[in-house]
Amino acid sequence: MSGKRVLVAGAGLAGSLAAIHFAQLGHRVEIHERRPDPRAAGAGGGRSINLGLSQRGIRALDQVGLLGPVLAAAAPMRGRVIHQRDGELDFQPYGSHEDQILRSVLRDDLNRILLAKALEHPNVSARFGVTLTDFDRGSAAKEPVCTFDSESGPYHVSADLVVGADGAFSTVRTRLLRGLPADFRQRVLPWGYKEFAIAAGPSGEVRSSPDALHVWPGDDGLIVAHPNVNGSLTATVFLPLSGERSFATLTTEGSVRDLFDTRFPDVRRLVPDIVEQFLSHPTGHLVTVRSSPWQHEGRVVLIGDAAHAVYPFYGQGMNSALEDCAVLRDCLADDDWAEALRTFERRRKPHTDVLADLSEQNFDELRTRVASPLFLARKKADLVLSRVFPKRWMPLYTMVSHTTIPYADALRRARRQHAVLAWAGGAALAAALAGGALARRRAAGPHSPGDRS
Ligand code: FAD
Repeated sequence: MSGKRVLVAGAGLAGSLAAIHFAQLGHRVEIHERRPDPRAAGAGGGRSINLGLSQRGIRALDQVGLLGPVLAAAAPMRGRVIHQRDGELDFQPYGSHEDQILRSVLRDDLNRILLAKALEHPNVSARFGVTLTDFDRGSAAKEPVCTFDSESGPYHVSADLVVGADGAFSTVRTRLLRGLPADFRQRVLPWGYKEFAIAAGPSGEVRSSPDALHVWPGDDGLIVAHPNVNGSLTATVFLPLSGERSFATLTTEGSVRDLFDTRFPDVRRLVPDIVEQFLSHPTGHLVTVRSSPWQHEGRVVLIGDAAHAVYPFYGQGMNSALEDCAVLRDCLADDDWAEALRTFERRRKPHTDVLADLSEQNFDELRTRVASPLFLARKKADLVLSRVFPKRWMPLYTMVSHTTIPYADALRRARRQHAVLAWAGGAALAAALAGGALARRRAAGPHSPGDRS
């Protein structure tokens, strides 16, 4: 069936890519977005957020012919540079092969590219600066209806299908779940984040590795900085929301200066206006959302953060959101949209649930483990094993970031690999012990007890 009316709520990354797919399938798409048109100059309000694009996102963009323009605006990241507290720098490659690199892209740039492509299509129209305030999910027999607030007052729109691409705090999701036997779990991280810019300079220790993600680990505060094509870095500082040295207490110039002087002195040197940036930028909150159902009677579907927001510590939120759109398009080969959307949820949710777990675990990894010698030794062992046994050993990180193996399958395979390694380690130890015993018996003479050779 073709030529349906599809309303996309939210013109972020997932919403824009979904609009391209629906239009290419011959449907008429209306996008309604709360923010101003991101293609207009200055629409981002000066806040630039960088995201690490990996294989899943790369493939999803390639599918709609957008990989070239996105890569042209992206900076490569070959690994991460860990800034130790003593000023030492450790480089950890992202993969065992030259081509296993991530790309750092400004969210605003990516959003503009996706939206421009969507709006090139004659089937797609958009309204900006309008906020979804209410939503009636409809039923098989009744179209869903959205209510928006706009400058000229509220308005209602119905459609054959509503795509909820309105992010982690989705209004579509809230209204979709209301009154249904639904499962909804939201976990708010007790840490928040603020962004700041590290401007390009003539020289400096950070900018000496422009093709890497920079990490200042710490269980009391963490900074992650992505490179930009112009040599600058976009950094995010993660701190507890409350307690001593938290976003609640770091509200004066003195306290912020003291934080950077004592915890991140090299950042303080590189960013002369760090105090001003810190005090003037908003604090963001991070949530994991596990929810179900994602769809209702062929009338509503959730994608991206609206369906499965994850903490950003595995760098997969956007990548999985873009991958959602590719999987959804695949499912829509079924003309029965109710069935197609159920299939989408069945195919996707087990994997994004695993991604949520991995992203929560990686919070600890980035804060504390990346700097530990044991972690570094295990990482090296992982890379060596993957070089020696390229078909049999693939580190979990490689599977998640450099392949499109579904997340739960990647985790299962990683566990199997480790079980085999543990078994092989045990077997090698047993063999070594047995070899030692044999050698001792041989040394004791041919007729020693138990020697039948
Ligand atoms: P969003 O990008 O949030 O888009 C939702 C859209 O809906 C927005 O445009 C919003 O304005 C609009 N909207 C919301 N409510 C309404 C409403 N009521 N009415 C109308 N419109 C509405 N992911 C990665 O893959 N790699 C990374 O390196 C990475 N780093 C991150 C770092 C940080 C600090 C954070 C916070 C996230 C990071 N992510 C990363 C995650 C990534 O940003 C998200 O997963 C991704 O943006 C999800 O896309 P989306 O389209 O689903 O949602």
